Amino acid sequence: MRIGIPAETRPGETRVAATPETVKKLAAKHQIVVQSGAGLQASIPDEAYAAAGAQIGTAQEAYGCAIVLKVRAPDAEERALMASGTVLIGMLNPFDADNIAAMATAGLSAFALEAVPRITRAQSMDVLSSQANIAGYKAVLVAANTYQRFMPMLMTAAGTVKAARVLIMGVGVAGLQAIATAKRLGAVIEASDVRPPVKEQVESLGAKFLDVPFLTDEEKEIAKGSGGYARAMPADWMRRQAELVHERAKLADIIITTALIPGRAAPVLISEETVKAMKPGSVIVDLAVEQGGNCPLSELGKTVVKHGVYIVGEPNLATLVAADASALYARNVLDFLKLIIDKDDQLLIDREDEIIKASLVCAGNDILRK
Ligand code: NAD
Repeated sequence: MRIGIPAETRPGETRVAATPETVKKLAAKHQIVVQSGAGLQASIPDEAYAAAGAQIGTAQEAYGCAIVLKVRAPDAEERALMASGTVLIGMLNPFDADNIAAMATAGLSAFALEAVPRITRAQSMDVLSSQANIAGYKAVLVAANTYQRFMPMLMTAAGTVKAARVLIMGVGVAGLQAIATAKRLGAVIEASDVRPPVKEQVESLGAKFLDVPFLTDEEKEIAKGSGGYARAMPADWMRRQAELVHERAKLADIIITTALIPGRAAPVLISEETVKAMKPGSVIVDLAVEQGGNCPLSELGKTVVKHGVYIVGEPNLATLVAADASALYARNVLDFLKLIIDKDDQLLIDREDEIIKASLVCAGNDILRK
């Protein structure tokens, strides 16, 4: 089969959906076409793909393959390059109904990898985790870069410098990596999440968990989340959380927010009142900025200073670690491909398979995701 890897064209997107490592594995059985320059922003030259067995081609040639591997959803021009029946795999934004409708109209069989269920068998295909892990790491480095003081405690001949206090809001994959990274830099860390099992994970990384007790059975039930993801908490719990966060934010030097609710706007966790109460020169990195932000003052793609606080609204921090983000993403994609290619190296889409059912958003002009 012919498998194409086009260059990503969305502004700011630096990643690529296959690396020489994954191309080499695929090229043993398939013809691989990599668009010239596709890996450049992740420091992968065409020659490296060619050495791994790929043919270097044009966008038309890459999109003309039976299977196309992408990072982000194609735009209208890219969709037009794919024939009806093309299998498209990527982070295709399963909650964007217009985009799915457009892909269905184009006759694509499109797999949105973000919709892969969080079951053990699918762990190696979990693009949300592989990329959130990187974003959590980079968020701390971006914060450290913006912060005008040291992260670790230092005792020098010129006096002692206090360790930075870091508050992490939302302790999923990104939040856990943010705690681990901030810890390595010597910060003192507190963290908050709605899901109770997180407390133990936070403490095992040497951070303090900010507990907002549940006062009703409803709160307790919602906090369990569904499918490993958080649900929107009742207003009263959110108010109590905000009060506690307000007090802790006054003491914090850096706040990293990562809280997301799938398919919904991100919850507001750091209000303008709380920003006003923070110390001048402190830093907020809002990883949820693309979903509306955990702080209403964050601005997409910008670092702004509001009430003396630096608020970083850089979207998609994984793109700043393009080489490793691509390496991990490409391995996720390779594992996903094994699901839809049979032992005779032919395409076989088993619609009864749980992973396929959840991630196939359209096929044969039908929209499969409601
Ligand atoms: P996410 O990116 O959807 O959200 C980030 C965090 O924000 C979550 O921990 C969520 O609980 C939290 N959050 C939401 N609303 C909040 C609020 N009001 N206040 C504070 N925090 C709030 O989460 P994620 O990184 O995708 O991880 C979710 C969970 O799934 C984690 O426990 C992770 O370990 C688990 N997971 C399981 C598998 C698997 O079983 N295969 C794979 C990946 C992740």
